[in-house]
Amino acid sequence: MRVAVIGAGIAGLTCAFNLQQAGVAVQVFERQPRVGGRMGTRVRDGLAFDLGANFLIRSYSTICELAARLGIRLNNLSPVRHSVLRDGTTFPMNYTAPRDLRTLGGLNWQARARLAWLALKARFRPRPLDFFDLSKVPARYNCEDAYSYAARKVGSDFANYIVDGFNSCMMFSRARDMSAATFAALFGMMAGTNRDFTVQHAEGEMQAIPSALAERLTVHTSTPVASLEPTRQGWRVHSRLGEMEFDRVVLASTAGAGRRLLKEPGEHLELLRLTQYASTINVSFRVPKGTLGDVHCFYVPFLENPVIAEFTNEALKEIECEGDSLVNVGLHEKAARALLHSSDETIFHSVRQQLLSLHPGLAAVAAQVRPHDLQRWPEAIPKYSGRHVERVKHFLEHGQGRQGLYLCGDYLNAPWTEGASRTGQRVAELLIDGRFRVEAENSTL
Ligand SMILES: Cc1cc2nc3c(=O)[nH]c(=O)nc-3n(C[C@H](O)[C@H](O)[C@H](O)COP(=O)(O)OP(=O)(O)OC[C@H]3O[C@@H](n4cnc5c(N)ncnc54)[C@H](O)[C@@H]3O)c2cc1C
Repeated sequence: MRVAVIGAGIAGLTCAFNLQQAGVAVQVFERQPRVGGRMGTRVRDGLAFDLGANFLIRSYSTICELAARLGIRLNNLSPVRHSVLRDGTTFPMNYTAPRDLRTLGGLNWQARARLAWLALKARFRPRPLDFFDLSKVPARYNCEDAYSYAARKVGSDFANYIVDGFNSCMMFSRARDMSAATFAALFGMMAGTNRDFTVQHAEGEMQAIPSALAERLTVHTSTPVASLEPTRQGWRVHSRLGEMEFDRVVLASTAGAGRRLLKEPGEHLELLRLTQYASTINVSFRVPKGTLGDVHCFYVPFLENPVIAEFTNEALKEIECEGDSLVNVGLHEKAARALLHSSDETIFHSVRQQLLSLHPGLAAVAAQVRPHDLQRWPEAIPKYSGRHVERVKHFLEHGQGRQGLYLCGDYLNAPWTEGASRTGQRVAELLIDGRFRVEAENSTL
C-alpha cells in the first residue's frame, strides 16, 4: 500500500511515522520549506521564536511518548505563575490544586463556592470526558456554549474573566465559540485526580519534535500539492514533482487548505467547508530578561482589551541573548483579521502600544521593548462549537476513509498539538487495520 500524506504538521508527521513503523510505504508533501506547521520555531538574532505552539503539558501522552522515542527531552517549566488582567490589575489564574480557588481571578466567595462544587463533580466523575477526543462527549453537552454554561453554573464574573479569558488566551476566540463540552472536558482535565497540568517545553525548541520525525521519513518540503484526483485504484497527486499515484491519501492540512484541493462534493469537502477557525498574529518583542518576573502567561479577556488576547514570558524557557528575552503576544481574532494584511511595521507599532498600556513593568522599560519577529495565522485554532463537534463526530463515523481519503488535524475534535498528533495516530491505525484486513481476506481466497 502506497500512502501520500499532505501536510507535515504534527498530525501528518505522527501519521506518517506510525505508518512507516508498520512497514507502509509513505511519502509526505509539505508546502513550506520547513516542517512543523503551527508547531515550528524560527531563530533570529540569537533568540528562538515559537511561531505557534509554545508549550506542552505533561498529560500530552502521545506527544510525550513521541518525544521519548525520538530522544527529545521535555523540560518542566512548572511551577509557574499565570495571571489574568482585570480592571488593569493582575489576579492569579493558576488552577492546579483546590487551594488555588481561594485567589482565582479575584472572584467573590459565592462564585468560588460554586466553582469548588463544579471542580469536585469534575474530579470524581465516574467517566471523565476526554478533551483530546471531543467526539466521545455526550451530545447533551453540545447544546450549549461554554460562556452560557459557565455563567449559569458559576456566574458572569467567572464567565467573563476566567472562561472567556482562558478561551481568548488558548483559542484566540470567545467562549461563546466553544461548546460547553469542550470547556467541561478541559476543566475536568485540570481538576481530575490523575491529570497532570505541568507546563513543559521541548529542549531544542518546539521545532525539535517535528524535525526529528521528518528526519526519519521521506518528506518533500517546498512541495505544495496543487490538486488531488481520484482514480480507479486510488489517488493521483499533482505537485512540482509531477503526477504521482497512491493507493491512499491522508489530508493533514488545515481545513481551508484542504478544501482548495478537493473538487468532488462529498462528506470530506462538506466538513472542510464548514470548519471555522479563529485567526491570530503571534507578535514577538525583545525585552530585558527579568521584566515580567516569574509570571509565565498573562491572560487578557476581551472585556479588558479587544486587541491582545495573551502574552507569554519566554525568559522562563531560558531563551535569552545578551540580557534580553522575548515576550510573545497573541491577538484576539477580530483584531488579528483587521491586521492580517498590514505591513510588519504597522502590526508591531499598534501591538506595542497596546502591550505597554497593559503592563506597567513593560511601560517602565518602553525604550527597550523592541520588535523581534511575527507570524500571521489566518487559520490559528479551530472553533470547537457544539455544531462543529457533532459534525465531526458524524464524519468520523460515516465519511472517514471513504474512497481511500482520510482527514487528520486538530479540527477533528482534537485540540492543540496533542489532539492533532492523536488524530494522525488514529488514521495510521485505521490504515494499518485496513491493510491487514485486505491481506487476511486475500490469504483465505
Ligand atoms: C499562535 C498559536 C499558539 C498555539 N499554542 C499552542 C500551545 O502552546 N500548545 C499546544 O499544544 N498547541 C498550541 N497551538 C495549537 C497547535 O499549534 C496546533 O493545534 C497544531 O500544531 C496543529 O497541527 P496540525 O498538524 O493539525 O496542523 P498544521 O500544523 O497547521 O499543519 C498543516 C501543514 O499542512 C501544510 N499544507 C497546507 N496545505 C498544503 C498543501 N497544499 N500541500 C502540502 N502541504 C500543505 C502546511 O504548510 C502545514 O505545515 C497554538 C497554535 C497557534 C496558531
